[in-house]
Amino acid sequence: MTQLYGGIEAGGTKFVCAVGTGPGDIRAETRFPTTTPVETIAQAAAFFQEQQAVYGSLAAIGIASFGPVDPDPTSPTFGMITTTPKPGWANIDLVGAIQALFPVPIGFDTDVNGAALGEWRWGAAQGLDTFIYLTIGTGVGGGVMMNGKLAHGLVHPEMGHIPLPHDWKKDPYAGKCPFHGDCLEGMTAGPAIEERWGVKGQDLTADHPAWDLEAHYLALALSTFICTLSPQRIIMGGGVMAQPQLFPLLRQKTLAHLNGYVQHPAILQHIDTYIVPPGLGSYAGVLGAIALGQQALLTD
Ligand code: ADP
Ligand code: ZN
Repeated sequence: MTQLYGGIEAGGTKFVCAVGTGPGDIRAETRFPTTTPVETIAQAAAFFQEQQAVYGSLAAIGIASFGPVDPDPTSPTFGMITTTPKPGWANIDLVGAIQALFPVPIGFDTDVNGAALGEWRWGAAQGLDTFIYLTIGTGVGGGVMMNGKLAHGLVHPEMGHIPLPHDWKKDPYAGKCPFHGDCLEGMTAGPAIEERWGVKGQDLTADHPAWDLEAHYLALALSTFICTLSPQRIIMGGGVMAQPQLFPLLRQKTLAHLNGYVQHPAILQHIDTYIVPPGLGSYAGVLGAIALGQQALLTD
């Protein structure tokens, strides 16, 4: 019998839940806005209960969450969203709330590590063992697979909050990160684009100067990640990357920053397949959550 998994892509703006086994076999899916933790978690649980009534018990559930989170199974705060500035969501025990209703293995990780796992299993990172998945959306985050394992380390990577070179004369915008101002997220996430230009990214034309500047900052970050992590590929997702003209700009500017230093044909000759959109498109997040559920069952 096919084992079915539940996946929760827990975003700061919306939750996406699905039941299935992978791409091409999503039996049911729902999405709803992230409101209070009690209401939002209850909606996710009700969806899984409805689906279980149709398809039978889920074998495992995966949760890929906005953060910061505690993904360390040995920690007393495992499974929690920890210090988020999102009102009402700090110190919320997401795994505990779902586990209390569903006595099955639960996989838990950051939204971007989840998406990285989904891309590795079924998308643009198949066959690789070291790569990164970045999202440029409401925030900026990075998931890392290093030598075949999702990276956690001390807590988990926070690649959206690296400082960037900032020429204040050329670009006086102070940035939007509440912690750092002009960090990567503060300069490139959707809300920064909106604040800087006075309109949302989706309402700017493809030839607007916003995109060249966006690609400039993103390319600085990619050069840093290439030099520190040596990824075999970089997958760029999130709402802002729905602007296809960003990809050629980003590839060209990343090559310019590296200036020939990292000598590998994957970069020097095949940059088009080195910096890529998610193979799973907008399903990277929720399929990643399903992949986390599968992984939890395997390691249970
Ligand atoms: P989240 O980060 O909340 O999961 P998204 O990845 O969809 O959600 O990111 C939302 C952000 O992306 C918003 O700031 C929005 O303005 C921006 N965005 C959404 N669609 C586009 C688009 N087509 N072009 C540029 N920016 C976009
Ligand atoms: Zn920051």
